[in-house]
Amino acid sequence: MRKKIVAGNWKMNLTVNEAESLVKELNQKVKEGVKADQLIVFPSFTNIVSVVNSIDYSINVGAQNCHESKSGAYTGEVSVDMIQSTGATVILVGHSERRAYFGETNELLAKKVDAVLAADMQAVYCCGETLPEREANNHFRVIESQISEGLFHLDESGISEVVIAYEPVWAIGTGVTASSDQAQEVHAFIRSLIEKKYGNEIAEQISILYGGSCNPKNAEELFRQKDVDGGLIGGAALKANDFIQIANSY
Ligand code: PEP
Repeated sequence: MRKKIVAGNWKMNLTVNEAESLVKELNQKVKEGVKADQLIVFPSFTNIVSVVNSIDYSINVGAQNCHESKSGAYTGEVSVDMIQSTGATVILVGHSERRAYFGETNELLAKKVDAVLAADMQAVYCCGETLPEREANNHFRVIESQISEGLFHLDESGISEVVIAYEPVWAIGTGVTASSDQAQEVHAFIRSLIEKKYGNEIAEQISILYGGSCNPKNAEELFRQKDVDGGLIGGAALKANDFIQIANSY
């Protein structure tokens, strides 16, 4: 059985106090139990330590990005070792906002994935097409490049530690969600790429999350799809009620 995962990307939101308030609410709500097998939150770097120290042990904490090098003269950057030393256990790699606004390429992201896995941390690797790419019917080609160039240098044990998030860029923060058919079609395609490269057993065990305007109203329909194993949630992850409702949408 694949792991059902719901992860919240808090992006560049919440001060230390605001993050602590959200954590308090989440802690209250997870006490009642959730259906997802794994819950992850991705606070900003400045909030990771306080979130790790105050959040319920059943919720994993991750970083939204990392630098690919171990250490050195990279002013303003944060290494995997630094993130790990906070108690965080997961790192998001290749979110579309990192790709679009910070020029992160598949080649660079492959190095970041390596850095995360070298520290025995969990990598959540994002892929997804823009609207013009979908309209030009180019989305499968784009996703295939993102997956193969970012991940297919890994060996079997490496790929097994990766969670993939499919996030169509046109659905992120727009209120326009991919239909469950559109999500399923791409998730099945991603799984078929993994199967071709690593075989059926590995393909069947990798969790593939959907992201893009996922909310308590549409989560159940999306999560019902055969190859949709959970969600990477942006806006709705900033409201404890919505996030936990999504985590119970199985
Ligand atoms: C995201 O940024 O990963 C995301 C899915 O955002 P939203 O849920 O707000 O569309």
